[in-house]
Amino acid sequence: MAEKILSAIDILRKRNGLPLRDATEFEALNRETQARYGKIGHKTFSTVAAYVNHNRWVADCQNCGAGMALQPGVNQVVCMECGERYDVAWPEDRDAIEGLLVTRPRKNRHWYPRETLRDLRRENREHGIGKAPVHGGE
Ligand SMILES: [Zn+2]
Repeated sequence: MAEKILSAIDILRKRNGLPLRDATEFEALNRETQARYGKIGHKTFSTVAAYVNHNRWVADCQNCGAGMALQPGVNQVVCMECGERYDVAWPEDRDAIEGLLVTRPRKNRHWYPRETLRDLRRENREHGIGKAPVHGGE
């Protein structure tokens, strides 16, 4: 299996032991979390920017500051700590970003929205990475 940046499903399985199988189950968990905090129908819908931190797709809750695990393909996230719901701003070139990051050692897999693909390629070159891709990334 091609290596990738960890998604909410991967992260929540590892960290919380939640056996989520797909994006639909992640969305159901989001609704359950909102319900638990009494925030169903609570209209905030601020937008948070997706970024990669230590090999994980995450965003920061603007309400409580907790890190939120994101699921590629799902454009909303609910904070597990406070129940706030957000729209997620994903980068257009997410696959290309992942493709460049997975050639690095895991501890060096970071990306922030201000960084371009050119920046990532340059950083990889500076560290002697990317001569032979580890995986196709397709
Ligand atoms: Zn929160």
